[in-house]
Amino acid sequence: MKMDTTLAPASADALLLAPAIASVGVIGAGQMGSGIAHVCALAGLSVVLLDVKAEALAKAMALMGRNMDRQIGRNLISPADKAEALGRITTSTDYAAFADSDLVIEAATEKEDVKRAIYKTLTPHLKQSCMVASNTSSISITRLGASTDRAEKFIGMHFMNPVPVMKLVEVIRGIATDEPTFQAVQALSAKLGKITAVSEDFPAFIVNRILVPMINEAVYTLYEGVGSVSAIDSAMRLGANHPMGPLELADFIGLDTCLSIMQVLHEGLSDSKYRPCPLLVKYVEAGWLGRKTNRGFYDYTQTPPRPTR
Ligand code: NAD
Repeated sequence: MKMDTTLAPASADALLLAPAIASVGVIGAGQMGSGIAHVCALAGLSVVLLDVKAEALAKAMALMGRNMDRQIGRNLISPADKAEALGRITTSTDYAAFADSDLVIEAATEKEDVKRAIYKTLTPHLKQSCMVASNTSSISITRLGASTDRAEKFIGMHFMNPVPVMKLVEVIRGIATDEPTFQAVQALSAKLGKITAVSEDFPAFIVNRILVPMINEAVYTLYEGVGSVSAIDSAMRLGANHPMGPLELADFIGLDTCLSIMQVLHEGLSDSKYRPCPLLVKYVEAGWLGRKTNRGFYDYTQTPPRPTR
């Protein structure tokens, strides 16, 4: 009988086969990369965080410090845990810093050409046994893995936002991903206090296949004038018991990321039901990307944030 590994913790025997991970590299110091570095450092791993922009690295270190302060405030960690965790993180703009990494997790911008260019620069600096994971929200793991020199050690490790708070990691094997890599990522996720759901390698995997078309439909609802931003978000918060309205959530995820995911679904599944809403396209073209640019469906320069429509 084939064992269903979906949502199952890895067995002790399988975990014994998993290569140990003590040192992790993270590429992209945006909201996801900084969250991944945060949880890895608190779990006792040494972390190298890399970005093309030096200022993104400084911002990420400050953000991790603030987020750890919140965890101290809730008695989840001690001030000593914070100091030790931040001490385990080094930042760099040079890929040579990944020479000792056991696993590198790429969490750069959701664009396939950007990710491929990163892997091309990255892999010559890695030791042979180093595994590579992508935090992509939607792009084929098989295709990304095939663009590297190590498809069997390449895997999808899809964290949720905000990483220190959200329990789930979706794990996605490409067609060539080997069992030790899969088990290593299962073991690492457990060490980070996460629960994994295993998804097959289809566009946008499980969570975003369901979530992002709902967000896109909310943007259509706004575009067609069915309701205002406040009406749509209140309706889904109070009527469907969602903790955040879909437009508020879109701003939180980043409208560029939402659009990229819809484009991957549209192209990957060739079904017109996944066509991105023109209003979403327009917002992204305007540079109104949500919280990270202070404007999306809400204006975040106002307190409380003011709906823009
Ligand atoms: P973000 O825009 O906050 O950060 C992206 C970072 O990547 C930026 O700091 C940017 O400078 C950096 N970057 C861009 N090109 C680079 C390069 N060539 N080399 C190194 N760094 C580079 O984006 P994010 O929300 O953190 O998303 C990152 C990844 O995580 C994407 O693949 C996204 O789909 C995925 N993801 C996002 C969410 C979410 O809710 N935002 C959730 C799960 C997964």
